Amino acid sequence: MSLKITDDCTSCDACVSVCPNTAISAGDVIYVIDADRCTECVGAEDSPQCQLVCPADAIIAGVSESHDALMAKYKALHA
Ligand code: SF4
Ligand code: SF4
Repeated sequence: MSLKITDDCTSCDACVSVCPNTAISAGDVIYVIDADRCTECVGAEDSPQCQLVCPADAIIAGVSESHDALMAKYKALHA
């Protein structure tokens, strides 16, 4: 699945640099994840890196996608 950021985000910026797909950016109020770029870190890491570093626990499950779909997305992003 791609992940999403909740209103608990404090805009600390910690998650941006750990994303292998440059899927996270500052939004108007809170930070946002581009679902077209989030692979739940499939293809690059064993677990979602943004969730590991978020001090506010503000990153949660979003749209459900299969592992194969996530891997295909990763390969397309890094072709
Ligand atoms: S789960 Fe991985 S790919 Fe998705 S936004 Fe977080 S760090 Fe980026
Ligand atoms: S690490 Fe968490 S609190 Fe910090 S900007 Fe990312 S989502 Fe927001």
